[in-house]
Amino acid sequence: MEKNASPFNKPKVELHVHLDGSIKPETILYFAKKRQIKLPGNTLEDLLHHVCYKEPLSLTEFLAKFNIYMPAIAGDREAIKRIAYEFVEMKAKEGVIYVEVRYSPHFLANCKVDPIPWGQKEGDLTPDNVVELVNQGLREGEKAFNVKARSILCCMRHMPNWSAEVVELCKKYKNNTVVAIDLAGDESLNCEAYPGHRKAYEEAVKSGVHRTVHAGEVGPPCIIKEAIDVLKAERIGHGYHVIEDPVLYKELLEKDMHFEVCPWSSYLTGACPPDFTTHPITQFKKDKANYSLNTDDPLIFGSTLDVDYSIAVKHMAFTEEEFKRVNINAAKSCFLPEKEKKELLHKLYEAYGMVISTAL
Ligand SMILES: [Zn+2]
Repeated sequence: MEKNASPFNKPKVELHVHLDGSIKPETILYFAKKRQIKLPGNTLEDLLHHVCYKEPLSLTEFLAKFNIYMPAIAGDREAIKRIAYEFVEMKAKEGVIYVEVRYSPHFLANCKVDPIPWGQKEGDLTPDNVVELVNQGLREGEKAFNVKARSILCCMRHMPNWSAEVVELCKKYKNNTVVAIDLAGDESLNCEAYPGHRKAYEEAVKSGVHRTVHAGEVGPPCIIKEAIDVLKAERIGHGYHVIEDPVLYKELLEKDMHFEVCPWSSYLTGACPPDFTTHPITQFKKDKANYSLNTDDPLIFGSTLDVDYSIAVKHMAFTEEEFKRVNINAAKSCFLPEKEKKELLHKLYEAYGMVISTAL
């Protein structure tokens, strides 16, 4: 991808990006050295060689990437706060004015989490402490870089015993950066078999916590149906495979369901066939569906938001008008309270030259 070729130099909104997939490689090196944690190499080049990839890999191979660098960050207070702060800085450089960043608090903890992830020794950093630290980093980043940042806490499909705590953390930190709950991981583990997630989402509905679910990324349309009918998802993470079920697709178009799509990610994870010209996003575009463009895991995919926007221009015939529409849809579908959502929309309308003067 060419550098510095920004296809859309106007304010953007991003709704689907993972904090633990967006860490600066320099920061991983710094904390690995400080904490004496072994990485596959000691230079930036070595690290990126092992962590990034450019051709599709299996889910198992993709997940193995986290094993490489998460031990350098997880369980460390300073590291967790710093990755949140630097995340906001990264988004400011990409022209993002509002972002919802998601992560599993349990994956960054080393205490009161079963099992303790990444082969860490037990420490004293609980999932609750993790959320507090991320919140601090995001809030400081907001002030420093003039980007509004909110967070989404992830349940993991293979860890239904974590989900009850995830929703409790969403409630505790509601409006203190946390705006929603998510479900991520292997879609073949449905909620029928894992009622822990269903219960957590029921609690989210009851407590007014917003809901998104990774569904139909690699999994079939029935996973999307389950996300909406059982988990009461208000947005769908990815959702590409919805087009294989025309009845469901039509229903979701009518409902104006929001799809958080990630073009470059969908290529590298093998979620979609490699030909971008026939990508489900081209269908979404044609049907004027409600969707946003997102990076997902830019560290691992060696990307920035510009890469996704460039793919959309090069292979999907995106115009300035479509980028505006996509970002306005993202703002309309974000999980901010109504008043703040209106303010965000107003900012976009202004920047896009769409404001009708109301001056007296
Ligand atoms: Zn994701």
